[in-house]
Amino acid sequence: MESLTIKGLNFVPYITRDEIARQVERVAAEIRNDYSDNDSPIFICVLNGAFVFAADLFRLCAIHTAEISFIRFKSYEGTGTTGTVNQIMGLKEDITGRNVIIIEDIVDTGFTALKMIDELKKQNPASIRFATLLYKPQSNRTGFTPDYYGFSIPPAFIIGYGLDLDGQARDLPDIYVVEK
Ligand code: 5GP
Repeated sequence: MESLTIKGLNFVPYITRDEIARQVERVAAEIRNDYSDNDSPIFICVLNGAFVFAADLFRLCAIHTAEISFIRFKSYEGTGTTGTVNQIMGLKEDITGRNVIIIEDIVDTGFTALKMIDELKKQNPASIRFATLLYKPQSNRTGFTPDYYGFSIPPAFIIGYGLDLDGQARDLPDIYVVEK
């Protein structure tokens, strides 16, 4: 793996595709353990960043009664949080009485996660749990903790495996961190 430059910023290799695959499999095993076919959970993938993780996680969970849907939130511009969380695209499905598992790419301050959970709770789901590939506990400003996470990382800006820099770099199979 080599360093790369995107939009004038230098990034260095951080998490390999093999490490990602191992942790996604571990998270899937935890979810499989907690849900049965009777729970018929509905996964809600948070676009755009979580689509790659969601595709892998959803298949590895192998709960054949599970459904998947998509929601879109955005709170970032460039490499910093804007402080406000805007809902951009709402959910079409009725989740009343359903067991919801939110799939997110990364939890930073926790504002997006809490806002999403608040919004979804208005529909009275039976349960809501939160799965994220990455979690930055030192950036946490809300006390929110995800139920499932792949990696706990220090607060640096990362890209790849679905995570972007202003829309770019989502295609990278490995994860890169901005060079200090
Ligand atoms: P929070 O509301 O927890 O502060 O931020 C969550 C959102 O910020 C994530 O869904 C993601 O879109 C974005 N984000 C946070 N940290 C990073 C990062 O290191 N890289 C990228 N590409 N996005 C991030």
